Amino acid sequence: MPGPYRRRRVFQPPNFVNFKPSGIPRRALKMITLAVDEYEAIRLADYNGLDHTQAAENMGISRPTFSRLVEKARNKIAQALVDGMELIVEGGNIEFANTRRRCLDCGDEYLSPYSEKINDCPECGSDNIEDIADNFIKKKNNENKRGDNV
Ligand SMILES: [Zn+2]
Repeated sequence: MPGPYRRRRVFQPPNFVNFKPSGIPRRALKMITLAVDEYEAIRLADYNGLDHTQAAENMGISRPTFSRLVEKARNKIAQALVDGMELIVEGGNIEFANTRRRCLDCGDEYLSPYSEKINDCPECGSDNIEDIADNFIKKKNNENKRGDNV
């Protein structure tokens, strides 16, 4: 069994989590899951153009681990692109540095450190706030629970 598996730091929750080829009924599509840490590797290396050393540092992992992660992510994206699969971004052993919080009353959305607890909307004072990072973490916990039952 591997030692304690370090969480990969992700800057903020992804904005888009579901991609599929157009014109194909959903039931006919094969699905592939890109973990949120794999998404972050692509974002840092290929979108922001960081080298692997910098990107690894951002995620709090070693350079070789980062290189494996980004290769795996590229492979999955290539598969989705070539084979026309539905791509879902979810799961992964992650922690968020920041979260987006959305006020369900006025619709205001803002980025803030995940550790900072904000209970009231800075715009309208409502406490009806959705934490988007929490949505990802909750999904992940559900997955773990499912995994335990196997
Ligand atoms: Zn508000």
